[in-house]
Amino acid sequence: MSTTTVDTTEITGIPHVIGGARVHAEGRTAPVFNPATGQQTGEVALASADLVHEAARIARDAQRAWRDTPLGRRQALMFRLREIISSRADELARIITAEHGKTVADALGEVARGLENVEFCTSLMHHLKGAYSEQIAGGVDVHQVRQPIGVVACITPFNFPAMVPLWMVTTAIAAGNAVILKPSERDPSAAVWIADAFAEAGLPPGILNIVHGDKEAVDAILDDPVIRAVSFVGSTPVARHIYSGAAAHGKRVQALGGAKNHMVVMPDADLDGAADAAVSAGYGSAGERCMAISVVVAVGAIADELVAKIAARLGGLRVGDGADAATEMGPLITRDALDRVRGFVDGAAADGGRLVVDGRELAVDGDGFFIGPSLVDAVTPGMRVYDEEIFGPVLSVVRVPDYDAAVALINASRYANGTAVFTRDGKTARQFEYDIEVGMVGVNVPIPVPVGSFSFGGWKDSLFGDTHMYGPEAFDFYTRRKVVTTRWPDPSESQISLGFPTH
Ligand code: NAD
Repeated sequence: MSTTTVDTTEITGIPHVIGGARVHAEGRTAPVFNPATGQQTGEVALASADLVHEAARIARDAQRAWRDTPLGRRQALMFRLREIISSRADELARIITAEHGKTVADALGEVARGLENVEFCTSLMHHLKGAYSEQIAGGVDVHQVRQPIGVVACITPFNFPAMVPLWMVTTAIAAGNAVILKPSERDPSAAVWIADAFAEAGLPPGILNIVHGDKEAVDAILDDPVIRAVSFVGSTPVARHIYSGAAAHGKRVQALGGAKNHMVVMPDADLDGAADAAVSAGYGSAGERCMAISVVVAVGAIADELVAKIAARLGGLRVGDGADAATEMGPLITRDALDRVRGFVDGAAADGGRLVVDGRELAVDGDGFFIGPSLVDAVTPGMRVYDEEIFGPVLSVVRVPDYDAAVALINASRYANGTAVFTRDGKTARQFEYDIEVGMVGVNVPIPVPVGSFSFGGWKDSLFGDTHMYGPEAFDFYTRRKVVTTRWPDPSESQISLGFPTH
């Protein structure tokens, strides 16, 4: 298998993979950086609309034979893929770290969570089973089959350059589709590695095509008549654009957007455990997770103690190059992201927040895109630091008097990806689970990303569409159901009847 290595001493051209061949840049390109050094390490090809349309035609032609491939052979491929990725997880993790910046340990976690979906797809025979009802009318039976859609497009964000592609493409391919994967242009090499892994597992050329690009490529995907479905994960404004653009062209679409996840700490919670969880979920991956905790909701009189406990933990966090085993928090993805996150911290105090820990004070040698962890207390709705998705290591604390105020605060948010409650009281936890208008809920679990046998998705502005990602709902999204009604009458039973058939 040829692997994609990121050479930090020279700039590597990162090609598309179309029809099983590497296609190098002919037109526009974009720089790819190592966020820990600030140095450009790669140059990724950006597809033109014409190239997207050509890739879609290649995918369509390849898909016909893939659809015919027996399920047992597809399933065997999934087992081989699992083996390839799990035995070389470290290689993939290092590629992720070199372009995204997260620590290698965190990148390994991402690979493991992506692998869960490969494992789920090793049972594709079960997931693609249809249904059968006999004798729904006299001598009449009905069965339902699941058939692939054809060519589907997957458009993925920078923050999980391996896991989110594995969520989407694995199920789409397991279900018999061909895929155009358009990964984030900021850390595109993991997708090329994944395409190589699928090829080594035996996937025929043209079934998984990597087409790098920006808005031009995405808009060509939305327009393309061959592409019948679009899966998207990214920010809310782009998710909305994808949802309306794909639907306007009659495509099936699921578009997951941004998040602003709240963690409620009840007065009876174990405050040390809650502080550990807030730090882990707030600052892990430098806050660049869609399920990161962004707001701690401190209920009642525990607020001062909780804020002190969180602040005390931040001094010891080791920020640095994610490739260094001692590092706990890496840099942000780009210099623009760094400037944006700094802007939130700048504005927090001006808007009336209390800056308990100021991440701007951190100094790391070199030109990496580093900022330290920040903690802002006394935050309220209406402040920019509360209202907008920051996507960086800035944790806000909102103080509320009681449970009802905590629930009202969260339910008023336009985002509804994940949330958590920390309490020792089962009745409170059960009521929270019942009351809260959020797609994924943790009880004493700060990042409640469902395991691979459940599907993943938020509500409101965190998901446009109705099916969630990976797991059982993904097999619904990537298949069309066909229902066949069957009768084998004796010729003597034949008669004319203009009435609408009933049982
Ligand atoms: P992004 O929206 O900037 O980019 C996502 C994808 O869309 C990329 O492939 C990008 O090339 C493309 N894109 C960007 N701008 C576009 C435009 N104007 N028109 C068409 N396509 C465009 O997101 P990002 O910065 O890569 O990722 C971070 C965001 O993703 C955060 O908002 C985060 O919350 C969200 N996210 C959500 C989930 C979830 O499950 N809900 C998971 C991961 C990330």
